[in-house]
Amino acid sequence: MRFLSIGECMAEMSPQEEPGMFRLGFAGDTFNTAWYLKQVAPQIEVSYLTGLGTDKISDQLRATIKDAGINDTYSVVVEDKTVGLYLISLDNGERSFSYWRGQSAARQLASDPSALKRAIEDHDVIYFSGITLAILDAEGRDALLSALREGRSAGKKIAFDPNLRPRLWDTPDTMRKVTMAGASVSDLLLPSFEDEASWFDDADPNATAQRYQSARAGTVIVKNGPDAVYYCSSDGADTVEVPKIGDVVDTTAAGDSFNAAVFAGLNDGLGLDRCIAAASALAGQVVKARGALVPVARPKT
Ligand code: ADP
Repeated sequence: MRFLSIGECMAEMSPQEEPGMFRLGFAGDTFNTAWYLKQVAPQIEVSYLTGLGTDKISDQLRATIKDAGINDTYSVVVEDKTVGLYLISLDNGERSFSYWRGQSAARQLASDPSALKRAIEDHDVIYFSGITLAILDAEGRDALLSALREGRSAGKKIAFDPNLRPRLWDTPDTMRKVTMAGASVSDLLLPSFEDEASWFDDADPNATAQRYQSARAGTVIVKNGPDAVYYCSSDGADTVEVPKIGDVVDTTAAGDSFNAAVFAGLNDGLGLDRCIAAASALAGQVVKARGALVPVARPKT
């Protein structure tokens, strides 16, 4: 499988024990998924398409992508822009986030529609998220969605995690409308029920799956924190229990790592129930450690 993930990876400043000290890392939903996929299935060719500047921090992010074994050659270079930044603040163990992403080169990732089209042509599975759509302007969104729609017609598998982040959108209505447009070009939807219930008023995971299937999405896998995962495909619907894991340390990237293990499982030809069991096992490791990118063992399937 040749896997392409499209989106934004940001510089992350995370607080250290000594007050005022921060550690620089890199993370972002679509990058996290690419990173975990390469960890659990090194044989898969993984590419990351984003926008990068030509400054030092962009070079550092390039090096991080390459060091993870991920191909960055499909990324767009935007001379006068840089990498977005977020800083984590800790208050009595509670994390809050401040963002600086106005100068982010990733906002231009869809600025060259023919490069986008070529990148999609060169891969078998293409993954993007609601955050990918949120950071683009209307023209960029149209270019990305039409390239994905064309890819799907040509037999590419398109996967989408709606990752609803209302703060990134001008209005919740725009977020809902564009999210449904994202679903309409996708074969595999990977939503999280809590977000979907908040913003689409879904009564239960089945309602989430039905809504996305009515938008022409194929398979829908609804994550639900520690609760059972619900899935629905042309073969029917079912649930897969999530193993109990004891103390949860940090749920950052739980869903991103889950998605990666689903892709690894599909690549191995596993049925959806076994893909989901492997995905819950991987996400279970990730929530037991601090940070977005946690070194993990490949889950047994
Ligand atoms: P997201 O991170 O996208 O919001 P969820 O919170 O639904 O997604 O979590 C994704 C997956 O992570 C779940 O399906 C589950 O496998 C695992 N997970 C999350 N929270 C827990 C938990 N408290 N206990 C065990 N597994 C969890």
